[in-house]
Amino acid sequence: MTNQNIDFKRFEIYMTQRCNRNCVYCFAKDNLKTKVEEIDFNTISKSVYKAKKNGFNYITLLGGEPTVHKDFFKVLALCKKLGFKIHIFTNGLKFSDYEFALKVKKIGADFLALNLPDYRKEEFEFLTGLKGSYSQIIKALKNIQKLKIPLSSIFLVTKTNYSKIENYVEYYYKMGLKLIVIQYLNYLGNADKNTEKIKVKISKTVKYMKKASNNLLKKGGYPFFYEHLPACFLKEYENKVLDLYLSGFDESECIHPGTPEEKSLEISYKHRIKTPQCKKCIYYKYCPGIEKKYLEIYGSDEIKPVIKKAKQFWENYKNKEYIRKSKLSFLETMKEFEK
Ligand code: SF4
Repeated sequence: MTNQNIDFKRFEIYMTQRCNRNCVYCFAKDNLKTKVEEIDFNTISKSVYKAKKNGFNYITLLGGEPTVHKDFFKVLALCKKLGFKIHIFTNGLKFSDYEFALKVKKIGADFLALNLPDYRKEEFEFLTGLKGSYSQIIKALKNIQKLKIPLSSIFLVTKTNYSKIENYVEYYYKMGLKLIVIQYLNYLGNADKNTEKIKVKISKTVKYMKKASNNLLKKGGYPFFYEHLPACFLKEYENKVLDLYLSGFDESECIHPGTPEEKSLEISYKHRIKTPQCKKCIYYKYCPGIEKKYLEIYGSDEIKPVIKKAKQFWENYKNKEYIRKSKLSFLETMKEFEK
Protein backbone atom coordinates (compact mmCIF):
# COMPACT_ATOMS: atom_id res chain seq x y z
CA MET A 1 0.00 0.00 0.00
CA THR A 2 1.43 3.35 -0.90
CA ASN A 3 2.52 5.98 1.54
CA GLN A 4 2.23 8.69 -1.09
CA ASN A 5 0.15 11.83 -0.67
CA ILE A 6 -0.72 11.20 2.96
CA ASP A 7 0.89 12.21 6.16
CA PHE A 8 1.21 8.62 7.46
CA LYS A 9 4.53 6.90 7.03
CA ARG A 10 3.89 3.31 7.95
CA PHE A 11 6.19 0.69 9.44
CA GLU A 12 5.01 -2.94 9.76
CA ILE A 13 6.08 -5.39 12.47
CA TYR A 14 5.23 -9.06 11.92
CA MET A 15 5.86 -9.92 15.56
CA THR A 16 5.30 -13.67 15.53
CA GLN A 17 4.23 -16.59 13.38
CA ARG A 18 2.32 -18.16 16.25
CA CYS A 19 -1.46 -17.93 16.38
CA ASN A 20 -4.21 -19.05 18.77
CA ARG A 21 -6.56 -19.87 15.90
CA ASN A 22 -6.09 -22.32 13.02
CA CYS A 23 -8.19 -20.78 10.25
CA VAL A 24 -8.93 -23.07 7.33
CA TYR A 25 -8.20 -20.17 4.95
CA CYS A 26 -4.94 -18.97 6.57
CA PHE A 27 -2.37 -18.41 3.81
CA ALA A 28 0.50 -17.76 6.24
CA LYS A 29 0.27 -21.04 8.16
CA ASP A 30 3.21 -23.35 7.39
CA ASN A 31 4.10 -21.15 4.47
CA LEU A 32 7.35 -19.76 5.85
CA LYS A 33 10.51 -21.82 5.63
CA THR A 34 12.13 -20.06 8.59
CA LYS A 35 12.45 -21.77 11.95
CA VAL A 36 12.31 -18.40 13.74
CA GLU A 37 8.83 -18.18 15.20
CA GLU A 38 9.03 -14.83 16.86
CA ILE A 39 11.04 -11.62 16.72
CA ASP A 40 12.53 -10.86 20.15
CA PHE A 41 11.88 -7.59 21.96
CA ASN A 42 15.42 -6.25 21.47
CA THR A 43 15.24 -6.65 17.71
CA ILE A 44 11.81 -5.04 17.61
CA SER A 45 12.98 -2.23 19.86
CA LYS A 46 15.99 -1.41 17.64
CA SER A 47 13.77 -1.35 14.55
CA VAL A 48 11.21 0.87 16.21
CA TYR A 49 13.85 3.44 17.23
CA LYS A 50 15.30 3.32 13.72
CA ALA A 51 11.85 3.76 12.19
CA LYS A 52 11.30 6.80 14.40
CA LYS A 53 14.64 8.26 13.29
CA ASN A 54 13.70 7.68 9.66
CA GLY A 55 10.48 9.65 9.97
CA PHE A 56 7.92 6.85 10.31
CA ASN A 57 4.92 7.84 12.41
CA TYR A 58 2.57 4.88 12.05
CA ILE A 59 3.19 1.31 13.24
CA THR A 60 1.19 -1.74 12.23
CA LEU A 61 1.48 -4.80 14.49
CA LEU A 62 0.74 -8.11 12.79
CA GLY A 63 1.47 -11.83 13.03
CA GLY A 64 0.54 -14.70 13.08
CA GLU A 65 -1.34 -13.20 15.98
CA PRO A 66 0.55 -10.25 17.53
CA THR A 67 -1.30 -10.40 20.87
CA VAL A 68 0.23 -13.82 21.68
CA HIS A 69 3.79 -12.42 21.51
CA LYS A 70 5.21 -12.62 25.03
CA ASP A 71 6.26 -8.95 24.94
CA PHE A 72 3.16 -7.63 23.21
CA PHE A 73 2.46 -4.97 25.86
CA LYS A 74 6.13 -3.93 26.04
CA VAL A 75 6.17 -3.38 22.27
CA LEU A 76 2.88 -1.47 22.43
CA ALA A 77 4.16 0.76 25.23
CA LEU A 78 7.43 1.47 23.42
CA CYS A 79 5.62 2.43 20.20
CA LYS A 80 3.34 4.72 22.15
CA LYS A 81 6.22 6.30 24.08
CA LEU A 82 7.84 7.17 20.76
CA GLY A 83 4.64 8.81 19.55
CA PHE A 84 3.57 6.35 16.85
CA LYS A 85 -0.01 5.84 15.78
CA ILE A 86 -0.66 2.12 16.41
CA HIS A 87 -2.77 -0.17 14.27
CA ILE A 88 -3.17 -3.81 15.38
CA PHE A 89 -4.26 -6.64 13.07
CA THR A 90 -5.72 -9.29 15.35
CA ASN A 91 -8.13 -12.21 15.44
CA GLY A 92 -9.62 -10.52 18.52
CA LEU A 93 -9.67 -13.58 20.81
CA LYS A 94 -7.59 -11.98 23.56
CA PHE A 95 -9.97 -9.02 23.67
CA SER A 96 -12.66 -11.26 25.18
CA ASP A 97 -10.81 -10.63 28.44
CA TYR A 98 -11.93 -7.14 29.52
CA GLU A 99 -8.72 -6.48 31.49
CA PHE A 100 -6.63 -7.27 28.40
CA ALA A 101 -8.74 -4.96 26.22
CA LEU A 102 -8.59 -2.22 28.85
CA LYS A 103 -4.80 -2.44 29.02
CA VAL A 104 -4.55 -2.14 25.21
CA LYS A 105 -6.81 0.90 25.35
CA LYS A 106 -4.88 2.49 28.22
CA ILE A 107 -1.49 2.04 26.59
CA GLY A 108 -3.00 3.58 23.52
CA ALA A 109 -3.78 1.42 20.46
CA ASP A 110 -5.36 3.74 17.92
CA PHE A 111 -7.05 1.27 15.65
CA LEU A 112 -7.89 -2.46 15.50
CA ALA A 113 -8.51 -4.60 12.42
CA LEU A 114 -10.30 -7.81 13.38
CA ASN A 115 -10.33 -10.88 11.21
CA LEU A 116 -14.02 -11.87 11.33
CA PRO A 117 -14.92 -14.38 8.62
CA ASP A 118 -18.62 -14.84 9.43
CA TYR A 119 -21.46 -13.71 11.66
CA ARG A 120 -22.96 -17.18 12.21
CA LYS A 121 -21.63 -19.42 14.96
CA GLU A 122 -21.24 -22.69 13.07
CA GLU A 123 -19.66 -21.13 9.99
CA PHE A 124 -17.43 -18.87 12.11
CA GLU A 125 -16.06 -21.85 14.05
CA PHE A 126 -15.60 -23.93 10.90
CA LEU A 127 -13.60 -21.14 9.25
CA THR A 128 -11.53 -20.27 12.32
CA GLY A 129 -10.88 -23.93 13.16
CA LEU A 130 -11.67 -23.32 16.81
CA LYS A 131 -14.65 -24.46 18.86
CA GLY A 132 -15.86 -21.76 21.25
CA SER A 133 -14.26 -18.95 19.22
CA TYR A 134 -17.63 -17.43 18.32
CA SER A 135 -18.78 -16.66 21.86
CA GLN A 136 -15.30 -15.31 22.60
CA ILE A 137 -15.42 -12.96 19.65
CA ILE A 138 -18.85 -11.63 20.61
CA LYS A 139 -17.49 -10.91 24.10
CA ALA A 140 -14.44 -9.25 22.56
CA LEU A 141 -16.56 -7.04 20.32
CA LYS A 142 -18.64 -5.93 23.30
CA ASN A 143 -15.47 -5.03 25.21
CA ILE A 144 -14.02 -3.13 22.24
CA GLN A 145 -17.30 -1.30 21.74
CA LYS A 146 -17.50 -0.40 25.44
CA LEU A 147 -13.94 0.92 25.40
CA LYS A 148 -14.58 2.81 22.14
CA ILE A 149 -11.47 1.52 20.36
CA PRO A 150 -11.86 2.30 16.62
CA LEU A 151 -12.42 -0.95 14.75
CA SER A 152 -12.54 -2.37 11.24
CA SER A 153 -12.94 -5.95 10.06
CA ILE A 154 -11.44 -8.22 7.46
CA PHE A 155 -13.94 -10.45 5.69
CA LEU A 156 -12.35 -13.44 3.99
CA VAL A 157 -14.49 -14.53 1.03
CA THR A 158 -15.06 -18.29 0.86
CA LYS A 159 -17.60 -20.74 -0.53
CA THR A 160 -19.40 -20.77 2.82
CA ASN A 161 -19.96 -17.03 3.27
CA TYR A 162 -19.81 -15.07 0.00
CA SER A 163 -23.58 -14.82 -0.50
CA LYS A 164 -24.16 -13.71 3.11
CA ILE A 165 -22.05 -10.60 3.16
CA GLU A 166 -25.10 -8.31 3.36
CA ASN A 167 -26.28 -10.08 6.53
CA TYR A 168 -22.72 -9.89 7.84
CA VAL A 169 -22.76 -6.11 7.39
CA GLU A 170 -26.17 -5.81 9.08
CA TYR A 171 -24.98 -7.86 12.04
CA TYR A 172 -21.61 -6.28 12.68
CA TYR A 173 -22.67 -2.73 11.89
CA LYS A 174 -24.81 -2.87 15.03
CA MET A 175 -21.64 -3.82 16.95
CA GLY A 176 -19.78 -0.72 15.83
CA LEU A 177 -18.16 -1.92 12.60
CA LYS A 178 -18.18 0.69 9.88
CA LEU A 179 -15.16 -0.18 7.79
CA ILE A 180 -14.66 -3.56 6.12
CA VAL A 181 -11.81 -4.90 4.01
CA ILE A 182 -12.80 -7.77 1.74
CA GLN A 183 -10.03 -10.24 1.07
CA TYR A 184 -10.19 -13.02 -1.46
CA LEU A 185 -8.41 -16.33 -0.71
CA ASN A 186 -4.72 -16.90 -1.30
CA TYR A 187 -4.51 -20.62 -1.99
CA LEU A 188 -1.39 -21.03 0.16
CA GLY A 189 -0.74 -22.58 3.59
CA ASN A 190 -3.98 -23.88 5.14
CA ALA A 191 -6.04 -22.51 2.23
CA ASP A 192 -4.04 -24.72 -0.12
CA LYS A 193 -4.77 -27.79 2.01
CA ASN A 194 -8.49 -26.96 2.36
CA THR A 195 -9.16 -25.76 -1.18
CA GLU A 196 -12.12 -28.05 -1.87
CA LYS A 197 -13.93 -26.91 1.27
CA ILE A 198 -13.55 -23.17 0.68
CA LYS A 199 -12.87 -22.39 -2.99
CA VAL A 200 -15.29 -20.13 -4.85
CA LYS A 201 -15.24 -18.50 -8.27
CA ILE A 202 -14.57 -14.78 -7.91
CA SER A 203 -17.11 -13.78 -10.57
CA LYS A 204 -19.83 -15.46 -8.47
CA THR A 205 -19.04 -13.29 -5.45
CA VAL A 206 -18.65 -9.79 -6.85
CA LYS A 207 -22.33 -8.78 -7.05
CA TYR A 208 -22.85 -9.65 -3.36
CA MET A 209 -19.80 -7.65 -2.31
CA LYS A 210 -20.78 -4.56 -4.28
CA LYS A 211 -24.35 -4.64 -3.01
CA ALA A 212 -23.26 -5.04 0.60
CA SER A 213 -20.72 -2.23 0.22
CA ASN A 214 -23.39 0.16 -1.01
CA ASN A 215 -25.71 -0.84 1.82
CA LEU A 216 -23.00 -0.22 4.38
CA LEU A 217 -22.49 3.20 2.93
CA LYS A 218 -26.19 4.03 3.12
CA LYS A 219 -26.10 3.17 6.81
CA GLY A 220 -23.28 5.69 7.42
CA GLY A 221 -20.30 3.35 7.09
CA TYR A 222 -17.48 3.38 4.56
CA PRO A 223 -17.27 1.67 1.20
CA PHE A 224 -15.38 -1.61 1.22
CA PHE A 225 -11.74 -1.93 0.34
CA TYR A 226 -10.69 -5.05 -1.56
CA GLU A 227 -7.51 -7.05 -1.34
CA HIS A 228 -6.08 -10.13 -3.09
CA LEU A 229 -8.47 -9.42 -5.95
CA PRO A 230 -7.50 -8.25 -9.45
CA ALA A 231 -9.11 -4.92 -10.31
CA CYS A 232 -10.72 -6.30 -13.50
CA PHE A 233 -13.26 -8.10 -11.30
CA LEU A 234 -14.27 -4.84 -9.68
CA LYS A 235 -14.88 -2.48 -12.54
CA GLU A 236 -16.20 0.87 -11.23
CA TYR A 237 -14.69 0.03 -7.84
CA GLU A 238 -11.04 -0.06 -8.86
CA ASN A 239 -10.10 2.85 -6.61
CA LYS A 240 -10.84 0.58 -3.63
CA VAL A 241 -8.60 -2.31 -4.75
CA LEU A 242 -5.59 -2.20 -2.43
CA ASP A 243 -3.56 -4.49 -4.73
CA LEU A 244 -3.18 -1.63 -7.19
CA TYR A 245 -1.29 0.44 -4.60
CA LEU A 246 1.39 -2.22 -4.07
CA SER A 247 3.82 -0.72 -6.53
CA GLY A 248 4.17 2.25 -4.19
CA PHE A 249 5.04 0.15 -1.13
CA ASP A 250 8.66 -0.11 -0.08
CA GLU A 251 9.27 -3.59 1.29
CA SER A 252 12.07 -2.37 3.49
CA GLU A 253 9.37 -0.78 5.64
CA CYS A 254 8.75 -3.93 7.67
CA ILE A 255 10.37 -6.53 9.93
CA HIS A 256 9.26 -10.15 10.12
CA PRO A 257 10.53 -13.51 11.39
CA GLY A 258 11.21 -14.97 7.91
CA THR A 259 14.08 -14.60 5.47
CA PRO A 260 14.33 -11.50 3.24
CA GLU A 261 12.53 -13.49 0.51
CA GLU A 262 9.60 -14.07 2.83
CA LYS A 263 8.44 -10.51 3.32
CA SER A 264 4.73 -9.96 3.71
CA LEU A 265 4.00 -8.96 0.17
CA GLU A 266 6.23 -11.68 -1.20
CA ILE A 267 4.18 -14.25 0.69
CA SER A 268 0.81 -12.83 -0.32
CA TYR A 269 1.69 -12.13 -3.92
CA LYS A 270 4.50 -14.46 -4.91
CA HIS A 271 2.21 -16.89 -6.71
CA ARG A 272 0.37 -14.33 -8.78
CA ILE A 273 0.84 -14.15 -12.52
CA LYS A 274 -0.59 -12.26 -15.47
CA THR A 275 -2.53 -13.95 -18.26
CA PRO A 276 -1.96 -13.24 -21.99
CA GLN A 277 -5.10 -11.07 -22.07
CA CYS A 278 -3.62 -8.89 -19.25
CA LYS A 279 -1.33 -7.22 -21.79
CA LYS A 280 -4.30 -5.19 -23.00
CA CYS A 281 -5.21 -4.00 -19.52
CA ILE A 282 -4.65 -0.41 -18.40
CA TYR A 283 -3.62 -1.76 -14.95
CA TYR A 284 -0.97 -4.11 -16.36
CA LYS A 285 1.87 -2.13 -14.80
CA TYR A 286 0.33 -1.93 -11.32
CA CYS A 287 -1.61 -5.17 -10.91
CA PRO A 288 0.18 -8.25 -9.46
CA GLY A 289 -2.14 -10.48 -11.56
CA ILE A 290 -4.09 -13.49 -10.38
CA GLU A 291 -2.97 -16.47 -8.35
CA LYS A 292 -1.54 -19.40 -10.34
CA LYS A 293 -3.57 -21.92 -8.41
CA TYR A 294 -6.78 -19.97 -9.09
CA LEU A 295 -6.08 -20.27 -12.83
CA GLU A 296 -5.43 -23.99 -12.45
CA ILE A 297 -8.82 -24.44 -10.77
CA TYR A 298 -11.00 -22.08 -12.77
CA GLY A 299 -9.06 -21.15 -15.91
CA SER A 300 -8.69 -17.62 -17.21
CA ASP A 301 -12.09 -17.04 -18.88
CA GLU A 302 -13.16 -14.62 -16.17
CA ILE A 303 -10.22 -12.28 -16.76
CA LYS A 304 -11.51 -9.41 -18.86
CA PRO A 305 -8.88 -6.69 -19.14
CA VAL A 306 -9.84 -3.15 -18.27
CA ILE A 307 -9.53 -1.24 -21.52
CA LYS A 308 -10.98 2.09 -20.51
CA LYS A 309 -10.80 3.68 -17.12
CA ALA A 310 -14.23 3.15 -15.68
CA LYS A 311 -16.36 6.01 -14.52
CA GLN A 312 -15.51 6.07 -10.83
CA PHE A 313 -18.30 4.50 -8.88
CA TRP A 314 -18.86 7.44 -6.61
CA GLU A 315 -20.03 9.45 -9.60
CA ASN A 316 -23.19 7.39 -9.50
CA TYR A 317 -24.16 9.09 -6.30
CA LYS A 318 -25.33 12.60 -5.68
CA ASN A 319 -24.56 12.50 -1.97
CA LYS A 320 -21.61 14.80 -1.25
CA GLU A 321 -20.63 12.92 1.91
CA TYR A 322 -20.43 9.71 -0.10
CA ILE A 323 -18.19 11.34 -2.65
CA ARG A 324 -15.92 12.75 0.02
CA LYS A 325 -15.49 9.42 1.79
CA SER A 326 -15.03 7.42 -1.39
CA LYS A 327 -12.19 9.53 -2.63
CA LEU A 328 -10.10 8.90 0.43
CA SER A 329 -7.38 6.30 0.27
CA PHE A 330 -7.43 3.42 2.76
CA LEU A 331 -5.18 5.04 5.33
CA GLU A 332 -6.87 8.38 4.92
CA THR A 333 -10.18 6.62 5.50
CA MET A 334 -8.84 5.14 8.71
CA LYS A 335 -7.68 8.56 9.83
CA GLU A 336 -11.11 9.93 9.03
CA PHE A 337 -12.72 6.97 10.79
CA GLU A 338 -10.82 7.67 14.02
CA LYS A 339 -12.33 11.15 14.44
S1 SF4 B 1 -3.63 -6.91 -15.28
FE1 SF4 B 1 -4.80 -8.77 -15.68
S2 SF4 B 1 -5.43 -9.57 -13.68
FE2 SF4 B 1 -4.74 -7.43 -13.41
S3 SF4 B 1 -6.63 -6.22 -13.53
FE3 SF4 B 1 -5.75 -6.28 -15.57
S4 SF4 B 1 -6.71 -8.05 -16.63
FE4 SF4 B 1 -7.06 -8.25 -14.40
